[in-house]
Parts: sequence; structure tokens; C-alpha cells
Amino acid sequence: MTVTDREPEPNAPVLPEVRMHVAMPNAPVVGRIAATALCTRGKSASFVRHVEIDITGTALEGTFRAGQSFGVIPDGVDAHGKPHKVRLYSLASPTWGEDGFGRVIATTPKRLLAEREPHAPKDDPLDHSLFVGVCSNWLCDRKPGDAVQLSGPNGKRFVLPTDPDAHNYFLLATGTGIAPFRGFLMELLEGPPAHSPAASTWKRCASRIDLVMGVAYANDLLYDGWIRDLAAKHSNFHYHTAISREAQRDGSKGEYVHQCIDRKLKDSSGCMESLRSDRTLIYVCGLAGMQVGVFQTLLKHEIDGYMKIGEALAGTPSSEWTAEQIKRSVRPTHRCMLEVY
Ligand code: FAD
Ligand code: NAP
Repeated sequence: MTVTDREPEPNAPVLPEVRMHVAMPNAPVVGRIAATALCTRGKSASFVRHVEIDITGTALEGTFRAGQSFGVIPDGVDAHGKPHKVRLYSLASPTWGEDGFGRVIATTPKRLLAEREPHAPKDDPLDHSLFVGVCSNWLCDRKPGDAVQLSGPNGKRFVLPTDPDAHNYFLLATGTGIAPFRGFLMELLEGPPAHSPAASTWKRCASRIDLVMGVAYANDLLYDGWIRDLAAKHSNFHYHTAISREAQRDGSKGEYVHQCIDRKLKDSSGCMESLRSDRTLIYVCGLAGMQVGVFQTLLKHEIDGYMKIGEALAGTPSSEWTAEQIKRSVRPTHRCMLEVY
């Protein structure tokens, strides 16, 4: 049975209350870069950093929950001479931060570098000069000690439930969409440092956790060594990679996250049992549109509970729904959290 728009949702997770908008973009706090390092696996054409920011003594100290995001206001002015607008970045830390006290937060910015292409009717279609994203490059350029204007926290639904053991987890990321899942995995499996106030109540999550990480090339995998170590240590955690532009070991073509799920649903990995279980939650983070393939795969395998189907699709078999119809008329239930931009 697929949940329609009007039915109540069984097994919805209980989410914690979160704090939001403690610092607004027009009255930001000032943090300081504490550490910065590339976090791709190998030599990669994309530059993605793990950036830690010290927010000690600011209004943001201790306010974040894993899965939320925060705003960065880069220095300088835009083409019209106005201060740059805020950009959001996902928190890559657990709720207790990198330090155990919520005083150091981290994120995973990717330098936006591309050949310019027309984005508005007035843009020159022949201009293919280098396009350098303002905030991602500014943030990646910062050195330890540099000041950063910050706002937030932002977001209230992309968080872990109050009782983590009440659910299984399917975490689906493309590229920097891995950021919130680093925080989740630290929170579910690794735990706070011994000196953290969170250490006395923390309990390792014993539920099944699957992470599917999609990148173009294997060298683009983020936090890969740490995640592999975690999977080796915890038998309830399963790490799957979907590499889109490299052939698989068996010679078959590269794959997207949803194609990896499709493959895993046909083998004996236990993914089918977990996704069919009504205690499982799906979290999707990364590129806009990635949820369509995920929904199509769930529909193909008749896995229920994660989608609400709009009236517009009533009466049409799901195998005939187009990507556009899914985007328009299929909504996630409370067991499916989407952060796709
Ligand atoms: P900008 O200078 O703002 O340029 C981007 C804009 O330029 C685009 O919107 C597009 O209109 C235009 N553009 C893009 N490419 C071209 C081109 N080739 N030619 C012409 N114009 C172009 N990003 C991360 O790296 N890590 C994160 O953890 C992260 N978390 C996020 C969380 C949330 C909730 C959201 C909403 C976004 C997140 N982002 C994250 C994206 C981030 O907010 C920025 O959008 C991203 O870093 C690019 O910002 P920028 O200032 O570098 O680019
Ligand atoms: P990327 O390198 O462009 O893509 C990562 C992988 O996703 C590649 O293998 C890519 O394949 C594949 N992919 C492309 N289209 C897909 C689709 N429809 N379904 C499934 N996989 C697809 O990723 P990125 O540059 O890191 O960008 C990550 C995005 O996540 C950005 O848009 C960022 O704004 C967003 N983000 C959002 C949040 C949030 O909302 N909290 C947090 C972090 C990041 P090919 O390139 O080979 O086609």
C-alpha cells in the first residue's frame, strides 16, 4: 500500500525540537577557521575541503543538531557593490561538534569551478570563460585563524530521531551531500570524546545503517578512509559506493546511487529486508533530482512507506510515471527526509 496524500502516516519518527535562526544573516556572528584540509580520497579534479570553524563565545555555540546547516557570508561585495548574500553549508559535525562541547563546527565545501554557460536570457551564449563560485572558493581559501561571518542554525527536519535505536537508516548522498551523514555516523556509531558532556548519556546505535555514496570517480569519495574504518569496526553499518564514471569491477557501466540500490535489492545484502521494514528511515542529501531515481527504484521493487502519491497519478500504474510526474506529484512521507539542492 502506498501512502496517498490524505492517509495518516504510520511509524513516523519522533524528531527533536531544534533551535533555528539564532543568528540572522544581517546580524551574523564571527567564527574563526580552526582547521582546513582536502577530504577527497585521492588526486581529484574536484576540490572539496573539510573546514572546521571555532564558534566559542558566539551565540551559535552549542546550538546545532547534526543534519542542520549554517550560513556563511563571504567578505566583499557583489557586482552591484552590495555585500554578498548568505550561502548555506551543511553541518558535517555531530551535535556535540568537533570538540565535544559544540564550540567547533565543520562543513564540507566544494569549490564551484566551471566553464561559464548561459543561466539567464541576457547571458552571452559564447562566453565560456572560467566561472568561479563566490562563497565556496572564499571559504576554501580561508586559513586557520581567519574570521568567517556565520548565521544559523537552519533546517529542522533533516535530523536524527530522538530515539535513534527505534529505526534503521538508509543514508543516500551525492558528492558533498555526505556532509550531514558524517555527523550522523559520528552520532550513531562513534560517540563523543570522553570529556564531552554528551558522553554520559550516549549509547551506540545497534540498528542497521546503510550509506550509499555517489561520486563521479573513486578518487572523489569524501571521508572515505574514515567511513571504511567505521564499516570495518561496526557490523551493523554497511558502506556502498556508486561511482558514475568508472566501470565496475565486473566490467559493467558506472552507476548512480539509485542504480546501486537497485543492484543491492537483488542480492543477499539485507537491503531489501531493511527497506521493507517499517522502522526504516531514508535520508537523501545532494543533487537536486537525485530523489527521482530513488523513488523510481522503490516503486519498481514495490517498497512502500516512503512516498505520498498525489491524486494526479491515481489510476496510472507506477511503471508508467515519468520523472517529471514523480517530481511534481510524489512527495516524501515522514520516513523519508530530503535535502536536495
Ligand atoms: P555562486 O557564486 O553563488 O554561484 C552559483 C550560482 O551561479 C548558481 O546558482 C548558478 O545560478 C550560477 N552558475 C553555476 N554554474 C555556472 C556556470 N557554469 N556558468 C554560469 N553561471 C553558473 N555546498 C557545499 O559545497 N557543501 C555543503 O555542505 C553544502 N550544503 C548546502 C546545504 C544547503 C541546505 C544548501 C541549500 C546548499 C548547500 N550547499 C553546499 C551549496 C552552497 O550553498 C552553495 O550554493 C555553493 O557552495 C555554491 O556557492 P558559491 O557562492 O560558490 O557559488
Ligand atoms: P557532483 O560531483 O556533481 O555529483 C555527485 C555524483 O552524483 C556524480 O557521480 C554524479 O554523476 C551523480 N549524479 C548526477 N546526477 C544524478 C542524479 N540525477 N541522480 C543520482 N546521481 C546523480 O556533486 P557535487 O558537485 O558534490 O554537488 C552536490 C550537490 O549537493 C550540490 O548541488 C550541493 O548544493 C548539494 N548539497 C546539498 C546539501 C543540503 O541540501 N543539505 C548539502 C550538501 C550538498 P555524473 O556527474 O557522472 O553525472
